[in-house]
Amino acid sequence: MNNNASTPPPPSARLSGLPSYGRGRVGTVRQFAHRLGSNEAPDAPSREVQDAVAAAFANANRYPDLRGETLGLALSKRHNLAENMVAVAAGSIVLLDQVIRAYCDPGAEIITGWRSYEAYPIIAGLSGCVLREVPLDAEHRLDPAAMRAAVSPKTRLVLICNPNNPTGTALRDDVLDALLAELPADVVVVLDEAYCDFDGDEATVRTSAAARLARHPNLIILRTFSKAWGLAGLRVGYALAHPDIIESLHAVAPPFPLPGVALAASLAALEQPEILANRINGNMRERDRLTQGAKELGLPVAESRANFIWLPVGPDAEPLQARLADAHIAARCFAGEGVRITIGSASDTDAVLAALKKSKGA
Ligand SMILES: *Cc1c(COP(=O)(O)O)cnc(C)c1O
Repeated sequence: MNNNASTPPPPSARLSGLPSYGRGRVGTVRQFAHRLGSNEAPDAPSREVQDAVAAAFANANRYPDLRGETLGLALSKRHNLAENMVAVAAGSIVLLDQVIRAYCDPGAEIITGWRSYEAYPIIAGLSGCVLREVPLDAEHRLDPAAMRAAVSPKTRLVLICNPNNPTGTALRDDVLDALLAELPADVVVVLDEAYCDFDGDEATVRTSAAARLARHPNLIILRTFSKAWGLAGLRVGYALAHPDIIESLHAVAPPFPLPGVALAASLAALEQPEILANRINGNMRERDRLTQGAKELGLPVAESRANFIWLPVGPDAEPLQARLADAHIAARCFAGEGVRITIGSASDTDAVLAALKKSKGA
């Protein structure tokens, strides 16, 4: 027995070999003029949102809602669902963690398209589950037939990221609905729609969840305020699902999931749909411009339905990221695969196009 060990006990073996969650920055000291690595919104919260946060902060001596009920109620109205079909958390990524803890035991299989969101292998690995990565198709889209075929008796969860991060591609509504209909009813299906606001008209974004949940009691839809809603720094995500599923998600979460300031900010943001619409319009304009410009330079660009573009440049990914960094642009690099560039302001687009042009000419 050793009472004098100089190191603490090791953590669970589940922690070894997990990929780490990368930020779109090279190193930590460097400040980038163009922060296009994390798919954040380029503009600050509105005056109204900032005022709501200040007012909520004045009550910071009090605990917030036990389950984020005020926001849950507003979201249930927005999506035309019963109040007990919404759960909120400090980011949709936290809700995914809750889903896996509530539904997947160690050894269970989780199926996802790949490449997809880099947090998936981490969360699945931490839970002791086996993540089955089903390759994307030649257009960098999820491959529904292959995902369906990957389902086995051990499968507990199918994870569908649509539009997909980091490729930006989306399944057509009818193709997605066909996949949902084909997946077995005893498997939990998570539809991660972090970017849905950029893909489709406002009414569909609001109403599609209720329509799908009515057909599929095994479905969990994840949404976030971090991307189109422009509140990444306050960490607000939500899940829409059957009341029994919501109850299970609550069962694995501590109380008070969201600080009062985050509740206030998201409630205030919901009151200003015109700001969301403007942000989405600006994003689409800049996305078209960046896509067009990159294509004219001969670069491959996947068809994006999100607030970023994917350049599947393979072995050129790291050099490309380095050249962007030299131009003070942070982007996300997946070595050997491609580079993801967030759509920002018009001046961000100008800077990226100039850097791409320069690296091309050099
Ligand atoms: C950004 C992102 C999220 C995370 O959103 P948070 O609500 O900030 O946790 C979830 N899924 C995908 C695919 C994302 O890209």
